[in-house]
Amino acid sequence: MFSAAYFSETKVMSRGIVVLLGPPGAGKGTQAKHLFAEFNMPQISTGELLRSHMARHTVLGAKARRCADGGLLVADDLVCGIVEERLAEQDCGRGAVLDGFPRTVCQAEWLNRYLYSQDSVKSFSRQIPFIVIKINMQENELFRRLTGRRVCPSCGRAYNVFSGSVGKPNVCEFDGVDLICRQDDAHDIIYDRIKIYEQETLPVAQYYRDKGLLREIEGSRSSDAVFSEIVQILEEVHPTHRKQLHYQALVRSY
Ligand code: AMP
Repeated sequence: MFSAAYFSETKVMSRGIVVLLGPPGAGKGTQAKHLFAEFNMPQISTGELLRSHMARHTVLGAKARRCADGGLLVADDLVCGIVEERLAEQDCGRGAVLDGFPRTVCQAEWLNRYLYSQDSVKSFSRQIPFIVIKINMQENELFRRLTGRRVCPSCGRAYNVFSGSVGKPNVCEFDGVDLICRQDDAHDIIYDRIKIYEQETLPVAQYYRDKGLLREIEGSRSSDAVFSEIVQILEEVHPTHRKQLHYQALVRSY
């Protein structure tokens, strides 16, 4: 028989798409990185993909910079294009965590069409588990987190001066690169980004709520507490996740 210890040590990536919704600063990126570390679920962060284009001075990066630096949304067709390209990569064959996408109803409709289209039939089927987790947070806490946020320009990890997670010297603990303040984390731009979230992205939450696909959690707790709740939701809505764990444990122990 397999032991309880063996059961809990086995980590299997659940197949499916997990969309992390929430205002800027709610911790979507941090939770997506946790899901990658724990379950090997690839993170597709449209913000990071766009910043990478900007850093490499691509044509797309130049178009994106005009909007992104000022906190405005980048055009739907550009963003859907980079998500399509990324979802087609081999590591996303079993699913992915979408962090910061979709941010408009138009993007949500595109995603729906894409996941069930013939083009993507190789990697996704009608049975694909799909869940949207919205991380809620009060506006004053968002301001506090965003004004204190420092990021590693190399790996994208986020730290915060107020939570004491920024050590001395001011470098990323994983790769030693100097931490920076994101240009769009400036006070007046934060305000605009939250407004845009309310106007453009809250309707996306309603779109998924109407389809019965939305779960909401409170984000102003420790990152570990938020992560535990996300895992609990995934275990509920992705029953294959548990089944896979059982199956692997059984196969390996006889
Ligand atoms: P983030 O890192 O998710 O806060 O995104 C940084 C910036 O990239 C945003 O303020 C937007 O300018 C742009 N961006 C990221 N994701 C999207 C998206 N799904 N749609 C439009 N613009 C986006």
